[in-house]
Amino acid sequence: MSTFQAPKGTYDLLPPDSATFLAVRDALAAPLRHSGYGYVETPGFENVDLFARGVGESTDIVTKEMYTLTTKGGDRLALRPEGTASVLRAALEANLHKQGALPVKLWYSGSYYRYERPQKGRYRHFSQIGAEAIGMEDPALDAELIVLADQAYRSLGLRDFRILLNSLGDKECRPVYREALQGFLRGLDLDEDTRRRVDINPLRVLDDKRAEVQRQLADAPLLGDYLCDACRAYHKEVRELLTEEGVSFEDDGRLVRGLDYYSRTTFEFVHDGLGSQSAVGGGGRYDGLSEMIGGPALPSVGWALGVDRTVLALEAEGVTLDLPPSTSVFAVPLGEEARRVLFGVVTQLRRAGVAADFAYGSRGVKGAMKAANRSGARYTLVAGERDLAEGVVQLKDMESGEQNAVPVSEAAEALRKLLA
Ligand code: AMP
Repeated sequence: MSTFQAPKGTYDLLPPDSATFLAVRDALAAPLRHSGYGYVETPGFENVDLFARGVGESTDIVTKEMYTLTTKGGDRLALRPEGTASVLRAALEANLHKQGALPVKLWYSGSYYRYERPQKGRYRHFSQIGAEAIGMEDPALDAELIVLADQAYRSLGLRDFRILLNSLGDKECRPVYREALQGFLRGLDLDEDTRRRVDINPLRVLDDKRAEVQRQLADAPLLGDYLCDACRAYHKEVRELLTEEGVSFEDDGRLVRGLDYYSRTTFEFVHDGLGSQSAVGGGGRYDGLSEMIGGPALPSVGWALGVDRTVLALEAEGVTLDLPPSTSVFAVPLGEEARRVLFGVVTQLRRAGVAADFAYGSRGVKGAMKAANRSGARYTLVAGERDLAEGVVQLKDMESGEQNAVPVSEAAEALRKLLA
């Protein structure tokens, strides 16, 4: 062991578990790649004000959870706590919204950082797959994203998740609701911090998980009762499209989410096997965000799915992914000449796209065969001096135990055919 450990709230991804993690990440992104979303990658850090303005000055993410730093040049940066603000910043900076037909559809994959109290499913460094559809107001786009996330989770074999859906209204109807909610909240017995939040962002009080707060919220006015006609019609269409596509959801009038930029559609995917950190993904419409960060009006919608929690959800459901073996052929040379010959065969196999590995070093047959077993390879190639004198290698099927001599020059092709 070294003197150092992974920082608090983080963990290392190591084989063999890392293979599952990669497969989950690929599966979450796959539906997007088939639905017109192009890949975007932005820096791991941004100007701190992008998040302060975009995510919201009063959110926990900005006030408590951001990793901020000042560079030697005096720039104030933050490790990205979420993806949407960065992706929109990048799209605006490159004028993607002026270059082709709207919406601009983008997907991303990366690490995010929040200084949170660590617990199972809640880390200070975590991975997300995200999608953003920028510059278009169309309920079908909101529905598309929810359908694609549902498809992604199902493709992994997940079943015990639910979709919570709400509408947060728009700049017409939300202020009316906000005032009504503030009136209600000011009549409650709340601590000073929460009272301040009532003034700045009362909707977020609905998100307070503490029992003493939740108890008092039972009769709080609901945004659903305050939606304007346009928002009501929009939400109705999103719901109808989901229903037509067979995606079931639950209406959750209290779902506000922890970021300030949402408007109209908001949704969360929750998994019932995860305890308190049950959200595996979430998102919504953010029609005002572009203007908040200095851009033109660009109504948009997006989501982010948590890779770490999706892996935990698979464990909770007892789902194991059917992953291709990392090694299909393992070569065990006995002697110096065999090393050269089999190294050549392994190289040939790899060039032909067959996953192959080699017993390096000189640990003797026993150790080498142990390594072959551990590799999970379906076939091993063994060659000693006598084999080479006859121009053959021994090809062993590790499942049946059957072994055959194959001419050296034909070994790679024979294996390629067997594995095809
Ligand atoms: P959010 O932007 O907070 O809605 O996050 C989107 C998704 O990312 C959540 O549903 C989680 O699956 C995941 N996520 C957010 N924060 C964390 C964290 N601290 N640790 C692990 N996963 C997280």
